[in-house]
Amino acid sequence: MNKKETIELLNFIHTFYKDFEVREDIISAWYNIMCEYDFNDVKREVEKFMAEDRYQKQLPTAYMLIKGLPKVKEKVDVQDGVKIYCSVCNRPFNDHAELDKHFDRCSSIRYVIKQSKKWFKKDIDKKFLWSLSDEEFEERYNKLLKYIMEHTEDENERKRIGFIFNPPSEEEAREFLKGN
Ligand SMILES: [Zn+2]
Repeated sequence: MNKKETIELLNFIHTFYKDFEVREDIISAWYNIMCEYDFNDVKREVEKFMAEDRYQKQLPTAYMLIKGLPKVKEKVDVQDGVKIYCSVCNRPFNDHAELDKHFDRCSSIRYVIKQSKKWFKKDIDKKFLWSLSDEEFEERYNKLLKYIMEHTEDENERKRIGFIFNPPSEEEAREFLKGN
């Protein structure tokens, strides 16, 4: 990304994390790192970051966001047989569409395993979850989310899951993140 995009990225982060400062020295430091990465890739990482429990109060750092991301130069090489990797399980892929599709299921499976252990003291086999069709998996996943939403005492968790079923407006999302 270029400098203008770096500033746009920082302003985007600032929208959601009001303690995140956008100053000249911060812009330069981020630009030195971000110049090698694609703007949309990094922006997507910011969105993923914001959706995670443990990062509700923590500010994103440049290094956290680029971890596992291919550089623009590497992305061009993907066609020439250079692999890209899933940031959850490290499985290699040849193209981004394939990886994106895999990543959705892979990160959801990680969530299902973790939450099943927490709520039902049950170890669910990863291979079994991968063997399900998209429909079957989604049904289980939604059931689990609804269960957690109904039983959790954590108001934020309840709201966050609610947003998956009814995506919030930008205003609601901002309000929610501010309250955290
Ligand atoms: Zn994976």
